[in-house]
Amino acid sequence: MENREVRVRFAPSPTGPLHIGGVRTALYNYLFAKKHGGKFLLRVEDTDQTRFVPGAEEYIIEALNWLGMNYDEGVKIGGPFAPYRQSERKDSYRQYAEQLVKDGFAYYAFDTPEELDEMRKRMEAAKMTSSYNAVTRQNMKNSLTLSEDEVNKRIESDENYVIRLKVPRKEEIRVKDIIRGWVLFNSAQVDDKVLFKSDGMPTYHLANVVDDHAMKVTHVIRGEEWLPSAPLHVLLYKYLGWEDSMPEFAHLPLILKPDGNGKLSKRDGDKGGFPVFPLEWKAPDTGDISSGYRESGYFPDAVVNILAFLGWNPGTPQEIFPLEELVQAFSLERVGKAGAKFDPDKAKWYNQQYLRMKNDGELAEIFMQDLQSRGVEADKTYVTKVTGLIKEKAYFVSEFWDLGSFFFQLPESYDEKVISKRWKEFVPQFLNKLVENFKALDGWKAEDLEATFKNTAESLEINPGHVMQLFRVVLSGQPGGPVLFEMTELLGQDETINRIETALQKLP
Ligand code: GLU
Repeated sequence: MENREVRVRFAPSPTGPLHIGGVRTALYNYLFAKKHGGKFLLRVEDTDQTRFVPGAEEYIIEALNWLGMNYDEGVKIGGPFAPYRQSERKDSYRQYAEQLVKDGFAYYAFDTPEELDEMRKRMEAAKMTSSYNAVTRQNMKNSLTLSEDEVNKRIESDENYVIRLKVPRKEEIRVKDIIRGWVLFNSAQVDDKVLFKSDGMPTYHLANVVDDHAMKVTHVIRGEEWLPSAPLHVLLYKYLGWEDSMPEFAHLPLILKPDGNGKLSKRDGDKGGFPVFPLEWKAPDTGDISSGYRESGYFPDAVVNILAFLGWNPGTPQEIFPLEELVQAFSLERVGKAGAKFDPDKAKWYNQQYLRMKNDGELAEIFMQDLQSRGVEADKTYVTKVTGLIKEKAYFVSEFWDLGSFFFQLPESYDEKVISKRWKEFVPQFLNKLVENFKALDGWKAEDLEATFKNTAESLEINPGHVMQLFRVVLSGQPGGPVLFEMTELLGQDETINRIETALQKLP
């Protein structure tokens, strides 16, 4: 075990868009693999054909790619244990179910849905938990209660049957979990799960264990919702004779609603106005759109950082960890047991930190797509400078337009509060004088503009402080914004003069 190459898998079922909890599971698997120089696999668990949703697999792959979590083996790219889609491995599972029957660890069950229903009702009436288990199986139609002849007859006549695991009545099952330590279960809590269905497909439990074994998976890192299945899986490893190479388990804590009450759901996102999916998703049946981090303007590295901290911490105050740094810092030992509250404000904060770390040119390129969609033409050098002046206040590039539209067009209106307070009688004279002095300037640098502005005001015995914000509104329409004279410098001489003259015509 010790010397085995680390091999971990992310094993989603393609039943819809991937919730961020699933993305975090993928991330922790990825980080663990990279940290240990191992392999990260993507296996698609699509044995439940009734829950298959078209487009879900593509969605998952696109989400992983967007976040930079490239997998080493898996669907689409293949690998030494291909295929990695369980529906394509269909033929490999039956033999193990049959072997379990042969060895006395599983049995055929012929009960019809009606018979199962009756049993359920009987148990409920007796106020007992209604499960198919060591006690109830004795009254059902299966290869433990029927004669061998009868069983063979039924199988030969193509009757529907399933194969169930024969869980011992009362036995302690110990699951060693890297995050939780030893977790003890009693087999009485585990029912005789179906391993193989009448449609010829394995259930999740059998396929999952068979494939983890076949693909030489060393660590199973998955969400806490799978912890109750772990004892069953441990039994399967034992009964299949694979106990020695059984993977180690790590069950990750839940991601909770912002108030900590229960699991984070799509509804919480809708209510709180934040995405719970990495990418936008359009449901193929209803056409409903669920928002995604990507479309909401989050940077992939920010999303990775946000998710990393939902359950893990580095044990130091450092909060900013791009993917490569996470690989170095990550360990399962520092993953907590307690659920991790999702904090939408913190998520925005992370995006802001990453936005500030990006260079202006990079941000300008994103901003230019927005400008283009608005029909605004501007050159990259100019947009880059605008970006430099406005980015400090933004959480997302999508806010740039509101913060700096005036760099590309005349203000649509002028802040009324500032105008009514500051547009005094002397203002037109001051602005005309300012135009005259600005026209006379040879260069156009912020510090000269500031000096000219002050001199103009003082020459008319006006306190420059009284006209400063007014001047800002004349140029931008807004009461606040980037450093005033840097903004003026970037607007340029002609445009600044044009805006002052326009304001003189339009205002009071
Ligand atoms: N197919 C399961 C899922 O959708 C995989 C659980 C596991 O990792 O064992 O989450």
